[in-house]
Amino acid sequence: MDTAYLDKLNENQRAAVTHGVGEGVPPALLVIAGAGSGKTNTLAHRVAHLLVNGADPRRILLMTFSRRAATELTRRVERITGAAMGSGYAAEALTWAGTFHGIGARILRENAEGIGLTPDFTIHDREDSADLMNLCRHGLGLSQTETRFPAKGTCLSIYSRAVNAEEPLAEVLTRHFPWCNAWEAQLKQLFGNYVRAKQEQNVLDYDDLLLAWAQVMSDDAFAAHIGGQWDHVLIDEYQDTNKLQSRILMALKPDGRGLTVVGDDAQSIYAFRAATVRNILDFPQSFQPAADVVTLDRNYRSTKPILAAANAVIGQARERFTKDLWSDRESAEKPKLVTVANEADQARHVADRVLAAREEGLRLKEQAVLFRTSSHSGPLEVELTRRNVPFVKFGGLKFLDSAHVKDMLAMLRFAQNPRDRVAGFRVLQLIPGVGPVAAGRVLDAIDIAPDPLAGLEAVDAPPRAAADWPGLVETLCGLKGWPDAIGRARAWYDPHLERLHEDADSRRGDLLQLEAIAAGYPSRERFLTELTLDPPEATSAQAGVPLQDEDYLILSTIHSAKGQEWKSVHVLNVVDGCIPSDLGTGSTDEIEEERRLLYVAMTRAKDSLSLTVPLRFHVTQQTRNGDRHLYAIRTRFIPKEILGAFDAFAWRPDGAGGAPSPAPARIDVAARMREMWG
Ligand code: ATP
Ligand code: MG
Repeated sequence: MDTAYLDKLNENQRAAVTHGVGEGVPPALLVIAGAGSGKTNTLAHRVAHLLVNGADPRRILLMTFSRRAATELTRRVERITGAAMGSGYAAEALTWAGTFHGIGARILRENAEGIGLTPDFTIHDREDSADLMNLCRHGLGLSQTETRFPAKGTCLSIYSRAVNAEEPLAEVLTRHFPWCNAWEAQLKQLFGNYVRAKQEQNVLDYDDLLLAWAQVMSDDAFAAHIGGQWDHVLIDEYQDTNKLQSRILMALKPDGRGLTVVGDDAQSIYAFRAATVRNILDFPQSFQPAADVVTLDRNYRSTKPILAAANAVIGQARERFTKDLWSDRESAEKPKLVTVANEADQARHVADRVLAAREEGLRLKEQAVLFRTSSHSGPLEVELTRRNVPFVKFGGLKFLDSAHVKDMLAMLRFAQNPRDRVAGFRVLQLIPGVGPVAAGRVLDAIDIAPDPLAGLEAVDAPPRAAADWPGLVETLCGLKGWPDAIGRARAWYDPHLERLHEDADSRRGDLLQLEAIAAGYPSRERFLTELTLDPPEATSAQAGVPLQDEDYLILSTIHSAKGQEWKSVHVLNVVDGCIPSDLGTGSTDEIEEERRLLYVAMTRAKDSLSLTVPLRFHVTQQTRNGDRHLYAIRTRFIPKEILGAFDAFAWRPDGAGGAPSPAPARIDVAARMREMWG
């Protein structure tokens, strides 16, 4: 056994990797440290070290925030063990690597019979959940009787918050949705109906995957049975877990033995989804004796100037546990802070820089453009498309959000679980002449049948759909074999695709792609579950789907960029009103979270970092005012005192590329620029 991999680690990393290994099941361990200090790398080494020391890979549970991150972690482990034990050794047997939600879905399905669920339950994504919420809202007549009753999305957010933070509804409303306070009674009733509807229809939503898992874990015997499946439970990005997740964890390993969690409180950016940084801060004291804590202080990712600027930004945070890091990566290049007139200029400037870097030999894949909100990359996407620069966008509109892909998935879901009304409504209404009323009638009828799918055959076809009915029924009943079911669904759907969409050809390509993705899954359930929980990313329309070895630029929301790194990083819209996003109403906690968000963005960069500040900035608001422009100022997170950490300058297009930018109205940009840099 060759443990040369240990030599590449620093002392603290090695301490974390070897902590308690080889001495039975090791006591609880927390690794808490700043960005780029090698936490994830250390976690991968720890898993590898456990395997090298004889741990059974099937008895290791590895959880992180996205399936992509889980896959990357598994690959890193494979590389390390491969080198240590020869290529014959496969860490492929790490079968329990995924997200909390994905693992939860597996546990619930595997144990469904014993816990009051039916194993063929389907899973609703946020949009499906909002649709079901809406059905319940209409069912109660709330949309008619209550003017200005919260929209379906808001209702879902309130519900989700209450579930994930384990807070009473009244408290959630007062603290986070004060404008909805008046409807507490109606919301309570609505949520009651929503829960009943999910149960009647045998569906679970995202929140249920954690909630139900946490609930069954309160049964000690069951918890011991589930927890006993694994000797080691390791979790990355622990700062972004919520109360339910920590409860699950504590129930899996009540004495903490075998538990390793890793994270950085300064990167906690999911409080808006009820994550709580208390989980990581309180972790050591959750056990008797307290968990061991390892901190890391060296950043291996970024150059000194980048790290200095990031440290300056996070240094103003009100509270922070992790300490500043140091780096020995010398560079003369400070991060850039570039002022531009507007978003169009910002797009041009960033595209210029990206292409110039490519000229100098930096692949597009080694560069990323990050932004606060998915819609903010719009002008840049247009510019990149115009210049034929392929890109992949993370965290934005998902492949699965397009109507035709949703139609196909709804067919598979409806075939798996015909009580799933959201799926049912979608599928039945594909048939011309079938509207919500007729679809509702069919769904009511099959609902009372002992075998709903068979019930579909017995049901009277809606009068205007008589001709198409037998074909649909036959198709749905035939969607069993996997993965050929998806081809059969596509064959039935094709004429509808033709009828519904003018650009049927390009959409057909998406469906073929879906079929290719499906082929990689062992079963319809796994395919639907994993696709719903963690859908594939959207790609630039003109570029099609890039192949593995093709070069493309990464566009990503900051949230989706978590844990990753690129040689060159651009951050868009570093202005007040964007980061922080909320101009006046944000609470101190929310503002602090935005500061951490900027820290996360900046710490993704290895060699080159640039932040752009458009002085005119377009916001889409869900208010009566509609869209509007803001005259923006540089984010408050980069006050004058720390400006020295940046190379600050203004940029204007030289007229060579693209159309001239619209003249900014009512504002003397030049004067503003001068004022800003004082
Ligand atoms: P984040 O907080 O952003 O998730 P992290 O703490 O998880 O960051 P890693 O992604 O594990 O950090 O590591 C950051 C970079 O530093 C990676 O490129 C990794 O390969 C490198 N690195 C980590 N430890 C070492 C080391 N001991 N020697 C050389 N490079 C290292
Ligand atoms: Mg990491």
